[in-house]
Amino acid sequence: MKLLEERIKSEGRVLGTDVLKVDRFLNHQIDPMLMQAIGDEFAALFANQEITKILTVESSGIAPAVMTGLALQVPVVFARKNKSLTLPNDVYTAEVYSFTKQTTNQIMIDRQFISPDDKVLIIDDFLANGQAVLGLLEIADAAKIDVVGVGIVIEKTFQKGHQLLAERGVHLESLAKIKAFEDGEVVFG
Ligand code: 5GP
Repeated sequence: MKLLEERIKSEGRVLGTDVLKVDRFLNHQIDPMLMQAIGDEFAALFANQEITKILTVESSGIAPAVMTGLALQVPVVFARKNKSLTLPNDVYTAEVYSFTKQTTNQIMIDRQFISPDDKVLIIDDFLANGQAVLGLLEIADAAKIDVVGVGIVIEKTFQKGHQLLAERGVHLESLAKIKAFEDGEVVFG
């Protein structure tokens, strides 16, 4: 997606060898117009698949997921990372190792928000080693729901997430693909 690549080039910052900071439009400050274009793009890529719900993980997946839900006119459910007092015990859970925080979190979704009749699209901001998406797939398996595909805003193709999802036969669509960071610059492809 050209618009997104341009924003990554102009506003993204490379940290170390494998992290991209995009807090000017996605991870801290959010550009709603760009998010809307992203939601429309995912809706077009996964059109006519009878999607009933979007699944994501808090917090950075929520903005693109909501705009995709708006475009497809379906609800959005985000997996929560911390057990809150208001969360009932009746939840699906999965363990997810966080690439950026280097800690393991439990993610959870209240059982009342997903059911075996659902056909879901998983949306997330980044695909690195695939742990967040695999956690959502584990929950989808436990809930016996059909996953139509996975939409990722920014995929780093040099990390192993892509291959792990390919091995599971998942329909993956990424709007920007980064094959390397060279001298602090993003290389797409
Ligand atoms: P994975 O689970 O695929 O290893 O990592 C994906 C998650 O880690 C995303 O939900 C995102 O929050 C975070 N992440 C992974 N790589 C990056 C990155 O380069 N930049 C930012 N901002 N977040 C990342």
